[in-house]
Amino acid sequence: MFESAKPTPLVLIEDAITSKAGIQLFLKREDLIHPFISGNKWRKLKYNLITAKKLGKKRLLTFGGAFSNHIYATAAAAKDYHFESIGIIRGEEHLPLNPTLSFAKSQGMELIYVSREDYRRKNELSFIEELKHQYGDFYLIPEGGSNEEAIQGCTEISPEITVDYDTICCAVGTGCTIAGIIQSLENKKQILGFPALKGGDFLYQDINAFLKKEYSYQLINDYHFGGYAKIKKELVEFIDRFQEQHNIQLDPIYTGKMIYGIYDLIQKGFFEEGETIVAIHTGGLQGIEGMKEKMEKLRKGKN
Ligand SMILES: *Cc1c(COP(=O)(O)O)cnc(C)c1O
Repeated sequence: MFESAKPTPLVLIEDAITSKAGIQLFLKREDLIHPFISGNKWRKLKYNLITAKKLGKKRLLTFGGAFSNHIYATAAAAKDYHFESIGIIRGEEHLPLNPTLSFAKSQGMELIYVSREDYRRKNELSFIEELKHQYGDFYLIPEGGSNEEAIQGCTEISPEITVDYDTICCAVGTGCTIAGIIQSLENKKQILGFPALKGGDFLYQDINAFLKKEYSYQLINDYHFGGYAKIKKELVEFIDRFQEQHNIQLDPIYTGKMIYGIYDLIQKGFFEEGETIVAIHTGGLQGIEGMKEKMEKLRKGKN
């Protein structure tokens, strides 16, 4: 299971801004790891699925919002690796299903909608017991896929990097992916996390809780664009321009904000001349479909 994955490509991104600053910027294309189980969600699922198989589990159960990259990836992975799957979705059902949920359903995932109050109980043992009582035995994958197994999978990203570099950058949601990267690098590189949500300082606590030792890393909290899944015209224009220049699609929720941030920091002189940066393209491109209208409106109008 998951054994055939090759190292994902590392591509050099060159343009007027990187050249002027004397920065070498590489993008590690985790978005190319699998057509549906993309980016860090593949890394996060790998050892979860291996463990689930070992335990003889037939069914996976996980949690997510209606546009969740994790729900999408888990549905595809469950199908590929012959598990049944249940997605506990926050909020009410809206028909027709959005592209994320309609894909999940097409992969055979059973979608169960719960109120926001119930959803908040997602980590409570009593709630999990209720779910087991209702839906039978399952292997539990927490929201976002973030657990020990996920960290283990994410420790396998940085050893694939074949160039010498100074700084590694990663988008941050729950912080699990960057925790795996931090653990694997053992303070040997500068590590920058770009939270996709506002008030990201609590993320230090969450990330440290994932880690067994103290490591140094930095969160850059200036590029969330107002909060999770919030976007602005300048972000959409940046993503469009990046696609035109480099023929690489970024997503508006995570990687677009991170790369926007990296370019802004380059222009502000945050990095030293001669520095090499590796940014992780964590995927998430399925999310564009659900943001399409919002993005189109911003392209045409003002913020
Ligand atoms: C889920 C996701 C992240 C955040 O990963 P965490 O492990 O929750 O920090 C980053 N980028 C993309 C594209 C994602 O889908």
